[in-house]
Amino acid sequence: MAATKIILTGDRPTGRLHVGHYVGSLRNRVVLQDSGEFEKIFIMIADAQALTDNADNPEKIRGNILEVALDYLAAGIDPAKSNILIQSQLSELTELTFYYMNLVTVARLQRNPTVKSEIQLRNFESSIPVGFLCYPISQAADITAFKATTVPVGEDQEPMLEQTREIVRKFNSVYGEVLVEPEILLPKVEVCLRLPGTDGKNKMSKSLGNCIYLADSEEDIKKKVMNMFTDPNHLMVSDPGQVEGNPVFTYLEAFSKQEHFDEYDPDHANLQEMEEHYKKGGLGDVKVKKFLLNVMYETLNPIRKRRQEFEKDIPYVCEVLKKGTEAARETAARTLSEVKAAMKINYFDDGALIRAYEDRA
Ligand code: ATP
Ligand code: MG
Repeated sequence: MAATKIILTGDRPTGRLHVGHYVGSLRNRVVLQDSGEFEKIFIMIADAQALTDNADNPEKIRGNILEVALDYLAAGIDPAKSNILIQSQLSELTELTFYYMNLVTVARLQRNPTVKSEIQLRNFESSIPVGFLCYPISQAADITAFKATTVPVGEDQEPMLEQTREIVRKFNSVYGEVLVEPEILLPKVEVCLRLPGTDGKNKMSKSLGNCIYLADSEEDIKKKVMNMFTDPNHLMVSDPGQVEGNPVFTYLEAFSKQEHFDEYDPDHANLQEMEEHYKKGGLGDVKVKKFLLNVMYETLNPIRKRRQEFEKDIPYVCEVLKKGTEAARETAARTLSEVKAAMKINYFDDGALIRAYEDRA
């Protein structure tokens, strides 16, 4: 029999989800969910992790729990196939984190390149909250609690997966084989590994204000797309343009499908032809942006419509979260008790502690 395949993945409830989340992980989760290849799927709203750098703003986290849940459902996450859970409601995850902390050095945490750049971004240099520095350990707890084999995420999560694998190896070698080493599952299309923001400079990120959100209205999307950064040297339509590093083309690579060309751009058979035309000169930015706009509408309109339906039934969304969290707790509790048994801190489980003394007497 093939080994059991289990997915764990998630997002921080620091804002609504954006199209970077969509191409980096969410779109793929729906495909994996519907593939039937996975025995269990856990999708986590990582509120405890979000608090590690938002400790003074719990209202922001609270206010985004349902926003993220709505985005999930709108994007096609099906509660009959995937458990959506809220991290802070599972104390098992916090317990595991505490035990794993003994297996990781401070120097190792400080070497993590994603954490390093996030510390810089948040101006934490001289005052890093301990919880923030340790969030890769808590992520290892999240992944291993469900014995996840597969973690579909964007490229910025690679160091977290490596840290998790190290913890698993260390735990298993010290205490015995309990934990499962997970594999990262990155998006197949290169530009989706780290989708740039509409500013073209940075990764699209809630913290940077350069996002197109899944819930954006047609008007919002239009404003954002028409104001997007392009090739600054492409001044006249006849000038040759650059496609590399031009976020309009990056988005076309991430979102466009053959049917979009058939319907909205009869002048070009496919993206490659469009790119060649732009590079040669004679294709204006406005025309390309208008095409991108149609692609974004085709992608986001059905998601927004579904979101509006779910917004009418918030008690249902809460019920989904409650059920998903309960199912997740069962699995996490099982792993935690195996972990405690392996660490021999399950003193009252089997009477062995007492027997050892009786045998001596
Ligand atoms: P924050 O600024 O609060 O960290 P974020 O926008 O970086 O928010 P996260 O919740 O940290 O979002 O990331 C959730 C998931 O989305 C992760 O799997 C991450 O790899 C992926 N992801 C986030 N931004 C992008 C992006 N621009 N391109 C591809 N994947 C992304
Ligand atoms: Mg992030």
